[in-house]
Amino acid sequence: MASPKPSAPDAPMTATGSGGDEGTAAEYRLLPMRLDGSATASEQPRAVRIREVGPRDGFQNEPDVIPTGRKVELIDALARTGLRRLEVTSFVRPDVIPQLADAAEVLARIDVPADVGVSVLVPNERGLDAALRLLEGQADTGAGRPAFDEVNVFLSASETHNRKNVNRSVAESLAGLEVVLGRAREAGLRCEGVISTSFGCPYEGRVAPERVLEIAASLRDAGAQEIGFGDTTGMANPRQVREFFATAGAALGAGLELTAHFHNTRGQGLANVLAALEAGVESFESSFGELGGCPVPPGATGNIATEDLVSMLEQMGIDTGIDLDALLACARRVQEILGRPLGSHTLVAGPVDWRS
Ligand code: ZN
Repeated sequence: MASPKPSAPDAPMTATGSGGDEGTAAEYRLLPMRLDGSATASEQPRAVRIREVGPRDGFQNEPDVIPTGRKVELIDALARTGLRRLEVTSFVRPDVIPQLADAAEVLARIDVPADVGVSVLVPNERGLDAALRLLEGQADTGAGRPAFDEVNVFLSASETHNRKNVNRSVAESLAGLEVVLGRAREAGLRCEGVISTSFGCPYEGRVAPERVLEIAASLRDAGAQEIGFGDTTGMANPRQVREFFATAGAALGAGLELTAHFHNTRGQGLANVLAALEAGVESFESSFGELGGCPVPPGATGNIATEDLVSMLEQMGIDTGIDLDALLACARRVQEILGRPLGSHTLVAGPVDWRS
């Protein structure tokens, strides 16, 4: 190995303005507080909302079916970490995604506190029918909290990706989802519309931001209260993200919640989070253990890891409401259950310890 040069990325960093001396722990500890104040150039939020999508977006990509009991155990544990939003499963055709064929059973068995929002992904009206049947059955038994409070619908911003994913044109998907959103809202459910390939498409390359915003506006008009912008294959870069969200807020109106959903496929996930924060985004989706994406070949990564996101935000003085140690326990447990090392950095390195 070559001897480290001063500019080597792994060379010890010096604290800002400390004249080249290595910063003391106390100096480093001041940094988050400086960033939390008004002295920064950009106005970052003081608190953010995080939706954990691992039990759906993550599990869906696992080749081996995870036993329902293990899913229930993990969801119940995640619901006690301080997370306030969980996407737990999807009402898709069992022959298409066998991993999530146990959606109704998972929802019946989980024990999630009433103040934690539970959402399910619904691809079409048939999925919504199945989901609503479950709620109606539950109402008959007079059970406690509803099995779920929120429905998420999705489509891709690019024609080719949408066609390959759901075998419909974007216009056909939108027409179908407008019906789903209307019916879900009528049933008293909160609705999120997720737009995949919002920042780039593996088949078409560039995706015009105007097109993404147009789709978002259609979903909003159909009843979506939140729009998730997905960087499905990890093509986004921070400059693009900052410019996109700076425009999106103004274009879509203040009443709509805008959520960033980044994948770490090329290691740019957290850089994109920072860019989104700087553009005023206060809502994120992530996956514990960095689950998601295709586990083959090894090293192909999925969603940004929730524990990496929480670690970074808390270091910056931005409140997530999440107990990082409790979250790491969930990530360790899922790693154990899946029996392979996961991509999360904080899982490997442990939380930052300032030795105070
Ligand atoms: Zn994802």
